[in-house]
Amino acid sequence: MNSTLDIHSLNDNPSSHRIIIVGGGIVGAALAFHLSSTKEHHVVLVDRCLEKSLGSTGHAPGFVGQLNESSVLTKLAKDTVLEYLSIPGGFSRVGGLELSSTPSGVEALRRRRDMALAADLPAEIITPEAAAALAPDFIDPDSVKIGLHFPSDGTANAQKITSYYFDQARARGVDFLEATVTGFTTSRNDGKPTKMTAIQTAEGHINLEGSTVILATGIWTSSLTDPAHGAKAPITQLPIPIVPVAHPYTFTPSRPPRVGNAYPFVRWPDHHVYARDHGDRDGLGSYNHSPMQLNPIGTAIGTWPAEFDQVLSEATSHLKNGHDFHSRGCVDDSDPWLSKQPFNGIFSVTPDNLPLAGRVPDVANLWMCAAIWVTTAAGTAKLISREILRDIGSPSTPEDELLMNALSPARFQGIGTENLTLQALGKYNDIYNRKI
Ligand SMILES: Cc1cc2nc3c(=O)[nH]c(=O)nc-3n(C[C@H](O)[C@H](O)[C@H](O)COP(=O)(O)OP(=O)(O)OC[C@H]3O[C@@H](n4cnc5c(N)ncnc54)[C@H](O)[C@@H]3O)c2cc1C
Repeated sequence: MNSTLDIHSLNDNPSSHRIIIVGGGIVGAALAFHLSSTKEHHVVLVDRCLEKSLGSTGHAPGFVGQLNESSVLTKLAKDTVLEYLSIPGGFSRVGGLELSSTPSGVEALRRRRDMALAADLPAEIITPEAAAALAPDFIDPDSVKIGLHFPSDGTANAQKITSYYFDQARARGVDFLEATVTGFTTSRNDGKPTKMTAIQTAEGHINLEGSTVILATGIWTSSLTDPAHGAKAPITQLPIPIVPVAHPYTFTPSRPPRVGNAYPFVRWPDHHVYARDHGDRDGLGSYNHSPMQLNPIGTAIGTWPAEFDQVLSEATSHLKNGHDFHSRGCVDDSDPWLSKQPFNGIFSVTPDNLPLAGRVPDVANLWMCAAIWVTTAAGTAKLISREILRDIGSPSTPEDELLMNALSPARFQGIGTENLTLQALGKYNDIYNRKI
């Protein structure tokens, strides 16, 4: 996608109904799509690169497991899957499979089965043999005690979904502007919330007269809002604990596609390891290492920490075909999906593993929609769009209000940044909710 306007034409045509989305990963793209469902607003999406996804979206293997200990995340994931299912090639309902070989792990899977059924998600405990039959190259039945199968889970093609939303949004009149945002200008009104008056970019200022801004900048959100992470000035007085972290993912070499049913994505929660069949190769990732905070520069690929070699060696030992995977990091990691080499992908964690999505209350025209996984991106973007488009004065539904409160960017007010960062890093090893 090329820019459809430039900064001069944007500034020469002010609008009191303009919404500017900064960030065109899966979240920004889904916002553009949903916000353009009415003709009421002029929606503009700004990204430093419109041609390809430089953010986490460009590197997500796309596991979508809908069940979470947080009922808010479960609800958003279920809404998201419904959205993805309507996008050609967006979602494959291959199912999800969790395996355990320890007494506490077996107990946890039984509890998750009950929780899934209570949340209206199909889930079934299966034998090791039945589990191995679903993904025979991955699973040795002698190495596990039980499996938990989620037939309605699957894999999302994040890049395909993002392009679909871009194209649909464009057709509905959304404008796209390629520009690197370098900061924001705000004005302070005594006694009233600050207002954002301009977006600074490498190509000039975007005038925000009458505009609403949404930050959908994923792992770069703190670097745009918080001077401690590189922002020129604080945008909000609220702590924004969106912490970018390193994560190893690797592949097998290319192979012919398997014959027969597609493999479910498979998780070994006891070991914090997961794997999937990508069609022409397999992929594997691991959370089994000390959390590592990063300061991302231009892309969501970090340099390869030497200790990740060992993390992947250990992780591959849990798969029957583990020896097929590359486990040593490659130095030239500019496009690991093409070179099929191990890579260090960066995504965000937060102190409660929930997104920061909603109005930023101390900046009158600012919203945020960040720290969101592919698993919950469309549902969250749709919720935020509903809230933004809602006529002033017309109340949210009680259900939306509950979700908005849980996701509010203001919820960490009063807690020290250092504590919040530590809590967020602690969540890295709890992606599978095993610390409960
Ligand atoms: C290795 C890896 C594995 C993952 N696995 C999964 C998984 O299995 N399931 C799952 O649900 N999720 C997974 N994720 C997480 C998921 O990919 C992300 O949470 C999601 O893609 C974030 O989307 P986003 O749109 O918020 O951010 P991004 O995709 O990062 O998009 C942010 C956009 O903002 C733009 N931007 C930032 N700063 C500026 C600026 N200053 N000026 C202009 N533009 C700017 C960037 O260019 C980028 O396009 C994984 C991520 C990684 C890296």
